[in-house]
Amino acid sequence: MQFKDVIGHQSLKHHLIQSTLNGRISHAQLFLGPLGNGALALALAYAQFVNCTNQQTDDSCGICAACIKAHKMIHPDIHYAYPTVGPKAKSTDFAAEWRKAILENPYLNSFEWLQFIEAENRQGNMTAEECEEIIRKLAFKPFEGKYKVIIIWLPEYLAKEGNRLLKLIEEPPANTLFILVANQAEKILTTIRSRTQLLNVARYPDKIIEQAIIEKQGVATKQAAQVAVLAEGNYNRALKIVQGKQQVDVVLFVKWMHSIVERLIPPNVLINEEIATIGRESQKNFLKYTLHFLRQSLNKRLLPNKPTGLSQEEEQLAMQFVDCMGVETFGKIAALLEQAIYHVERNANPKILFLNLSIQLIDYLAIEKQTLQKKA
Ligand SMILES: [Zn+2]
Repeated sequence: MQFKDVIGHQSLKHHLIQSTLNGRISHAQLFLGPLGNGALALALAYAQFVNCTNQQTDDSCGICAACIKAHKMIHPDIHYAYPTVGPKAKSTDFAAEWRKAILENPYLNSFEWLQFIEAENRQGNMTAEECEEIIRKLAFKPFEGKYKVIIIWLPEYLAKEGNRLLKLIEEPPANTLFILVANQAEKILTTIRSRTQLLNVARYPDKIIEQAIIEKQGVATKQAAQVAVLAEGNYNRALKIVQGKQQVDVVLFVKWMHSIVERLIPPNVLINEEIATIGRESQKNFLKYTLHFLRQSLNKRLLPNKPTGLSQEEEQLAMQFVDCMGVETFGKIAALLEQAIYHVERNANPKILFLNLSIQLIDYLAIEKQTLQKKA
């Protein structure tokens, strides 16, 4: 994987490239940040870059033998350790699955990985045997690369076994590079954490996700902004929404919101029936998007000149909500929507759920409007 294949993180890429070219590589680094932030992809690109035999000023070359092996994840000096299942399991036991899963999607999360290796209900783990294996792998000089790299994905799973690695992390053999990729700093052994240099890999801004799914997934511009909002900075989630076709149907959404603000009861009932057919994940996204939309309507009332990021069609619709969306009403509606998401997750009957929700929304919005008229 080259840096250019990793979405976003321009300044981090620049930092990793420059420190390598200047020969100032820190031998143990912790790439830390929220889920779906591309930290593992960044680690893969970095491992390829340090071993590339024809480094460019802005990326690995992508065509030297080292790059080709790194790209296929078969470079003999780039090792991986990750959670597995089974009492004495080691990463190498799952090497084929790992390559397949990561080449398919380097943004995946631990749950998906454990599903991939059919962990079922078993907990993921990094065993004492795994640690011994890491020590053994790093005992030799690099075979053909400049650096022996070990990417430890999710050191949160190391538990106290990780203490076996302390000495190695503190005094690694020459030209050895530890890259730890983690989401939850508090779950990593403090002894390990304190021996690494921290690299904060931030949540993706919505704009970056929006651009990436337009360019890489061919999502239409109009849909992309919505998906980015729903993904909440998590590129993996954005991929799931796109691939699972769980985007919010804009036409249906606008129709639904319109029937609510205009109190059009018979059409609303029909629309609810349509929403009931779209599948639970899509319904959840529909509700989340409603929440986002109403928040934007509230913002429009409070900060009329601030751009909302809504499409033109939604913007017009939002104008209708401005008068009936006060802070208090928004709070109540937000609680209703959160509750509805909870019920969708627990298999509530969608027809009844959306009908009840519509009636409550109509009521809240009407009360707000009346209060406002009284004040005027
Ligand atoms: Zn190369």
